[in-house]
Amino acid sequence: MMTDTMNPFVIAQEQFDIAADMLDLSDALRGHLRVAQRELCVNFPVKMDDGSTRVYEGYRIQHNLSRGPTKGGIRYHSSVTVDEIRALAMLMTWKCAVSGLPYGGAKGGVVVDPKVLSDSEIERLTRRYASEISLVIGPEKDIPAPDVNTNPQIMAWIMDTVSMHKGYTVPAVVTGKPLNIGGSEGRNEATARGVVYVLLEAARHLSMDLSHARVVVQGFGNAGANTARMLHALGATVVAVSDSRGGVYNPSGLHPDALLAHKRRTGALSGFAEADAISNADLLEIDCDVLVPAALGIQISEDNAARVRARLIAEAANAPITPAADCILYERGCFVLPDVLAGAGGITVSYFEWVQGLQEFFWTEREVNAQLERVLIGSFQRVLRVAQERRVHMRTAAHMIAVQRVADAVTTRGIYP
Ligand code: NAD
Repeated sequence: MMTDTMNPFVIAQEQFDIAADMLDLSDALRGHLRVAQRELCVNFPVKMDDGSTRVYEGYRIQHNLSRGPTKGGIRYHSSVTVDEIRALAMLMTWKCAVSGLPYGGAKGGVVVDPKVLSDSEIERLTRRYASEISLVIGPEKDIPAPDVNTNPQIMAWIMDTVSMHKGYTVPAVVTGKPLNIGGSEGRNEATARGVVYVLLEAARHLSMDLSHARVVVQGFGNAGANTARMLHALGATVVAVSDSRGGVYNPSGLHPDALLAHKRRTGALSGFAEADAISNADLLEIDCDVLVPAALGIQISEDNAARVRARLIAEAANAPITPAADCILYERGCFVLPDVLAGAGGITVSYFEWVQGLQEFFWTEREVNAQLERVLIGSFQRVLRVAQERRVHMRTAAHMIAVQRVADAVTTRGIYP
């Protein structure tokens, strides 16, 4: 029986080891893929509105470059650590490989609580961080995107900063940009749309009717709020949602648009009139059909996995479930759609945005969504087949596909020099 560590990178390595064991991967390949290829740590000053100067710490970590340029989001959060960014970069390598996107994985982060900064402080922090990491990013090198507490405006500032250094506009240096400077139709909702496409396939497999499902969503940002809206539109009953300040619960159902309006007005979900308050811990244990973790990592561990009652879990968030919890959920018959599969909508449409930017030829939203659906249904079916054939849960199956693809690329390219 596995026991949990709370170090996200150790968890990512444990998940990798499980897949590597199943694949009987050589020691040389294990050694290569267990660690990040490149790690950049930056400490940089930012002028604050009151005239003072503060120094911030940030990272850009590229896990593996064998299958193409690296790609992954940038996170602004006070809890960011180097091991969290290492873990997320490795996860991005597997996420790209599961969907067959021609990228390796990367991740960036700054140790900052952006909620206490003004917009102009966030802009100066972003531009300086972008300058610092401009050593390693670029359309053929490494392409950032939004993640927790970063958004299209922040991507626009990064794109503008890199473009100012170059002296010409470089749209393909980031994805998740606003539409008016080369963003893609459908990118903003893509992570949620991907969650829903994969959930629909899983529900079909489990003979579950999503339009009658009771749904709980943890995290009410880009991924969580859009997933709640789309599932509500399909007829599902959203019984509980939460953000960093806590959750709201109503077994008769909540209207995501009313929740969004309340959050916009008050800054939080708490206090929403037509619901009871619920803690983030209790929210995970609500009796429901579908649970969508869409906030931070390590939310379901060996401490609470036995009390999770959802039949189907779709990980919009990266790494919300520990390996020990995976085992407990699997034994209890809970079907988990792992982050590298369920959360791949964002990176897939980011890939489409990058392709459109390089070609200067833009697609309609209908074309984007149709291609996204094609990619994710293909990924789901491949992962399910491996899970059934090898009698493993969906995460291990997805990692097996991904690790094999990356190992094959490393082997084909050989070792330089
Ligand atoms: P976001 O900043 O838009 O939203 C994050 C949400 O989580 C906010 O509502 C915040 O209040 C809430 N939150 C923070 N801490 C919480 C806690 N302890 N409990 C409950 N809620 C909490 O970020 P996002 O882009 O929606 O990302 C959410 C998750 O989805 C992350 O794990 C991210 O890595 C993953 N993800 C995002 C994308 C993307 O394209 N944005 C793609 C793939 C995966």
